[in-house]
Amino acid sequence: MTTIIEPFKIKSVEPIHFTTKEQREKILRAAAYNPFLIHADDVLIDLLTDSGTSAMSSAQWAGIMIGDESYAGSKSFFHFEKTIQDITGMPIVIPAHQGRAAEKILFTVVGGKGKYIVSNTLFDTTRANIEFSGAEGIDLLCKEGKLPSIPAPFKGNVDTAALERFIEEKGAENIPLCMVTVTNNSGGGQPVSMENIRQVKSICTKYGIPLFIDACRFAENCYFIKLREKGYADKSIPEIASELFSYADGCTMSAKKDAFANIGGFIALRNEELAVQCRNLLIITEGFPTYGGLAGRDLEAIAIGLKEVMEEPYLQYRIRSIQYLTEKLMKANVPVMQPAGGHAVYIDAKAMLPHIPVEQYPGQALVAALYIEGGVRGVEIGSLMFGKHDETGNLIPAVMELVRLAIPRRVYTQSHIDYVAEVIIEVYENRKKIKGLQIEYEAPIS
Ligand SMILES: *Cc1c(COP(=O)(O)O)cnc(C)c1O
Repeated sequence: MTTIIEPFKIKSVEPIHFTTKEQREKILRAAAYNPFLIHADDVLIDLLTDSGTSAMSSAQWAGIMIGDESYAGSKSFFHFEKTIQDITGMPIVIPAHQGRAAEKILFTVVGGKGKYIVSNTLFDTTRANIEFSGAEGIDLLCKEGKLPSIPAPFKGNVDTAALERFIEEKGAENIPLCMVTVTNNSGGGQPVSMENIRQVKSICTKYGIPLFIDACRFAENCYFIKLREKGYADKSIPEIASELFSYADGCTMSAKKDAFANIGGFIALRNEELAVQCRNLLIITEGFPTYGGLAGRDLEAIAIGLKEVMEEPYLQYRIRSIQYLTEKLMKANVPVMQPAGGHAVYIDAKAMLPHIPVEQYPGQALVAALYIEGGVRGVEIGSLMFGKHDETGNLIPAVMELVRLAIPRRVYTQSHIDYVAEVIIEVYENRKKIKGLQIEYEAPIS
């Protein structure tokens, strides 16, 4: 087979600012070893997030110019609305300025004290919005999803037996909706199978609970279904997406992910009564229902991006580039989460740096080492991000100590990825020299 190449030519380039190792040591010290405090200009390859960091296409940039900025009834809104209706089959489309704004509106309407929102795994902002409403977010991820070193095709699946048990225990009347995140961002970007969605839907129907999809990475998930699930190899991505959304009563999406946009989001629904309540909140927080916190040009770019993301040469390149980096690291024995997910590579820092106790944050130590070695910026997903402290101040560590390297869409080429692999392998070979870190100051809420 020939090399899978980037399915695009480059029309406009953004220079990378080079730094030396000595400069990066100083920069990191000045940033108190917190990668979020490093100026982006001092980063060579930025793998902090895949959110809002996509490269837009020439068609999207052209769309920016023809964006209709009318306050009400803009042409760009109708393009946005029709595109989402066509993909999801849902008649009601409510724009929002990003994913969490859509979540805030939805959960203000359906959440509240004594309620439970069940999921495979809720993303941080989703959980935060659920909890802010007074409700509780419950993750019921399948067993294989919790084992980073064991490969399985659909590690994002819901544990359906646990779902049914939970509903029986708490009562369907206390569960306003079930939300399945595709792909499972917090669980390594692992996909959910169509079979699993179908089973979840049938349980939800039995108990009268609406099913929602957190659709941030729906196209990546649909491509995994095409590759891995029996019966889908010959189906197109729009066909697979259409089936996936057919089981859902609604969805939320951040357009900063699988819509190649730098900002934006939406809620799509089938229920008009729920839509009226959502629109009422939208007006006081986001804006009029035909722009919802976005400029007309953003709506245009999102509509175009949503169509581009379902093109198979793109998805083949996208999924392959994550696999490619994962395979290179595995060959060098770097411990990584398996199999590769849809948008990021996860290094198991606890396995890589066994000499650093969790109280000294092996994940953050690895993030620092990768930045100093090669100017590569990743993010710790471990005890620094999710750990808690007991009354005596002792760390209650997170389940895993991971470093996430999220790959922005259409931004980096294969040689950039080769460089990233070289940097990681160099750090791996000198891992015994890496030292742990201590917290000097922690903001009360961040
Ligand atoms: C990013 C993300 C969100 C929130 O979207 P924002 O646009 O960042 O507010 C919600 N769910 C998932 C799965 C995400 O990845």
